[in-house]
Amino acid sequence: MTYTKRSDGRKMDELRPIQARVGVIPNADGSALFATGNTVAIASVYGPKELHPANKRKPDRALIRCEYNMLPFSVSERARPGPNRRSKEIGMITENALSAVVDLKKFPQSVIDVQILILQADAGTRCAGINAAAMALAHAGIPMREMVSSVSIGKIDDKIVTDITKEEEDWEEGDGATDIPFTLTSRTNECTHLQLDGKIPTNKFKNAIDAAVDACKKIHEIQVRALKGEIINENEKKK
Ligand code: ADP
Repeated sequence: MTYTKRSDGRKMDELRPIQARVGVIPNADGSALFATGNTVAIASVYGPKELHPANKRKPDRALIRCEYNMLPFSVSERARPGPNRRSKEIGMITENALSAVVDLKKFPQSVIDVQILILQADAGTRCAGINAAAMALAHAGIPMREMVSSVSIGKIDDKIVTDITKEEEDWEEGDGATDIPFTLTSRTNECTHLQLDGKIPTNKFKNAIDAAVDACKKIHEIQVRALKGEIINENEKKK
């Protein structure tokens, strides 16, 4: 069976309906919610503040310390709470994706804590977390050279699809599905994070990157609108 139609009726290059807003956690220095379809992430930022233990301090710059967690009821089979290998890896790639655009030299010896919580998971949670975290950093007033935006591109059968869902990731016919999470900077158009789970012919890889760049540009526009105070809920206009 070849893959011709997406199960939720989206076009191959269409994002899921997005929700975005800042200021969701009053006690944090900055916070944001970013949702794509049934994947919902919130991020909060605390700092910059003095880093403890002192031996981890960087004399010339700040560190971003990022924790990613899924709520136990974010998936249908209750996820076990607490850190695991996957959450540690996602925390690390998120730190790297964000560190590339934050002006860390402004805050020597400090730490900027970024907490990402996945409220509901339907694939693409690391990307939603990065989008929320970038918005939360900007909301906290932390100087950034540019924003980052993130999306997961899929290859299902021979089709390139934007913002792949869990159901799509689980496609098992033919060549199955491949998942390519990707993060783009908003001004210099550089990639600060790229992963690949599955396989893809090299001549299709360029198409996947083009789709990722287009989608990240759309996401960036939404992040900017939310940072200006708009509460975005694309589900509403579909009703
Ligand atoms: P991402 O969420 O960034 O796509 P993965 O590819 O690791 O990361 O996970 C894909 C999806 O699989 C998640 O979004 C979620 O829907 C599901 N998933 C991940 N971990 C678990 C878990 N512990 N229990 C149930 N489902 C999970």
